[in-house]
Amino acid sequence: MPDFVFAPAPPVTVAVTDGRQFPVRRVFCVGRNYAAHAREMGNDPNREPPFFFAKPADALVPGGQDTPYPSETKNLHHEIELVVAIGTGGQSINVSQALSHVFGYAVGIDLTRRDLQDEAKNLRRPWDLSKGFDASAPIGSIAPASVIGHPATGRIALSVNGKTRQEGDLADQIWAVPDIIATLSRFVALEPGDLIFTGTPEGVGAIVVGDVLEGEIAGVGRLRTKIV
Ligand code: MN
Repeated sequence: MPDFVFAPAPPVTVAVTDGRQFPVRRVFCVGRNYAAHAREMGNDPNREPPFFFAKPADALVPGGQDTPYPSETKNLHHEIELVVAIGTGGQSINVSQALSHVFGYAVGIDLTRRDLQDEAKNLRRPWDLSKGFDASAPIGSIAPASVIGHPATGRIALSVNGKTRQEGDLADQIWAVPDIIATLSRFVALEPGDLIFTGTPEGVGAIVVGDVLEGEIAGVGRLRTKIV
């Protein structure tokens, strides 16, 4: 046992639907991956290469726990997303091999301090504190691909207090999961435990304390969290 200065933090884990725990290494996120959402954010949805940002692993809010409303924002937005859980690492992965690196899939929400993100965009500053803040990534259980396969189509939706806010189809992703894995793995060596949030469909909007968010992706699962 090394002589640690203080006790190391326990590993961040996400429940797997079979009862096991998935140890998380890193959390990557794709920006602008549905054309209608790119347009609603004022961007050209033409097929530019995917771009990425990251959140700390301990920003995850697993399994239906409440999500605290963050400090330093007056405009917290929800973004429902398909999350890919990497089970086998690799570098410069071929598109044709990419799905063999996937352990499973989950429903996630990329919470965003939209006011801070708008300011960062205007000032050409990084997105870290508009995207990667504490409790910024609620996530449901991971469903193994060995059970559910690799969903490429299907409804992805999020409701707030029972009213549908976001609704789309995985088939509308500008970049599909194999393309995302192939591209990201050219920039970093993917490792087992990495998660990739794959972008959100249209309909993002503000949430406040007391709101109940319920996300669903057909064939993958559900996620519920209350903002407190
Ligand atoms: Mn997002």
